Amino acid sequence: MSTVDLEKIISLCKRRGFIFQGSSQYGGLQGTWDYGPLGVELKNNVKHAWWRRMVYERDDMEGLDCAILMNRLVLKYSGHEYTFTDPMVDCRKCKRRYRADQVDPGEKCAEGGTHDLTEPRPFNLMFKTTVGPVDDDSNIAYLRPETAQGIFINFKNVLDSTNRKVPFGIAQIGKAYRNEITPKNFIFRVREFEQMEIEFFVKPGTDDEWHARWVEDRYNWYTQLGIQPGNLRKYVQKPDELAHYAKATTDLLYRFFPERSDENKQFDEVEGIANRTDFDLTCHSKGGKLVLKDGRVIPNEHAVNRLTWFDHQTNQHIIPYVIEPSAGVDRATLAFLMDSYHEDIVEGETRVVLRLHPDLSPIKVAVLPLKKNHEGIVKTAKEIKQTLQKKCGWRSVYDDTAGIGKLYRRQDEIGTPFCITVDFQTLEDSTVTVRDRDTMAQVRVAIDQLPTHLAERLGTA
Ligand code: ATP
Repeated sequence: MSTVDLEKIISLCKRRGFIFQGSSQYGGLQGTWDYGPLGVELKNNVKHAWWRRMVYERDDMEGLDCAILMNRLVLKYSGHEYTFTDPMVDCRKCKRRYRADQVDPGEKCAEGGTHDLTEPRPFNLMFKTTVGPVDDDSNIAYLRPETAQGIFINFKNVLDSTNRKVPFGIAQIGKAYRNEITPKNFIFRVREFEQMEIEFFVKPGTDDEWHARWVEDRYNWYTQLGIQPGNLRKYVQKPDELAHYAKATTDLLYRFFPERSDENKQFDEVEGIANRTDFDLTCHSKGGKLVLKDGRVIPNEHAVNRLTWFDHQTNQHIIPYVIEPSAGVDRATLAFLMDSYHEDIVEGETRVVLRLHPDLSPIKVAVLPLKKNHEGIVKTAKEIKQTLQKKCGWRSVYDDTAGIGKLYRRQDEIGTPFCITVDFQTLEDSTVTVRDRDTMAQVRVAIDQLPTHLAERLGTA
């Protein structure tokens, strides 16, 4: 089982252009990260793999892409204005702030001894802004703290424009923002991130069964893309851990922190799958109400529609229940990076290899000339690269900036499944060497057979 720690991943990501500290040119901005040339490919591949499986390969899902800025009332009636808070504490000695559940009072303080912590108080995690040229309280908006609310308020739009029947779902991928008190652990906890969320609408009474199905579907998505089952756990939240509106929640936890001695603490959330009942559609409905954890009831006086579905079988308008699989793109990307990281010893040297699933690899094929100043070899290699990129649609690169051994290592380290080497024999018989990242085995393949040969091995045939 791979147990690479974050430090190695952070250094690889910076060195090879996966992920850089945000605003590093000006000393950085905490809780933000920029995805570089390889990172953007990897992250896009994670999102495509999710969209393909969750939207295209199912018959019960529609997609959506909502605005990040929403009418403030959306986040009022969702409850976020009232309760989207984390408990914050200050240390009276070092003046630093912490999330109460993430600081150990016995922890060493930079000013000596242990922390002297204040009582926890709520801190709202939403970023505030103003919409339009006047900067006052009448035009406050928030950067959305999750993509989900945009789905709920479009429930009726999607229903009316698609003629869907419950059960069906709406999927969305997009940015979310949370002013985390202590962003940390690389891209695990950041202030700007992406989510891949589904709101799956079902008839009340069928919700438990659908919840169980979604937990399985989502677990399988990770393992089928290469996550080792030993590094992924299902955690069923205990009644006292549940959000007050949730009937049940199962979290998928990945082993993000293998260096921790307590095994349970090695795992943390990559995705949550919640049964949210009819809470959200009720609180956003005309005539509906938001019920807060402390019992306060906020009647909805602004919504223009009732978010119901007409069930022709029973001739009744019902408010569907919602199952919500909510995943973080950045955390999933980190999990795939960590899980695929391997160090092998080859001929006495360490070979770093990312054994990424080919669907996720930033680059599918690297075309390498054995001699970089031989006109015939270079021309053929560049032609092969162009063909594979344009005709097959695989992200391909041409590289001649080092000797062949070094070029192979570079591609191994970024997870490229196949390297193609063009050599002198190529000029005689139009064949090339195809080298496999995982086995390092090489086979000779005719150039005109490359698209079919590689499609089969990449699993896209
Ligand atoms: P946590 O308890 O770790 O703060 P959460 O339970 O508040 O997370 P959700 O609101 O359930 O998270 O969000 C769904 C998913 O969005 C999470 O499983 C995670 O993958 C991702 N996510 C949430 N907050 C962050 C963050 N600050 N940085 C990166 N990803 C995040």
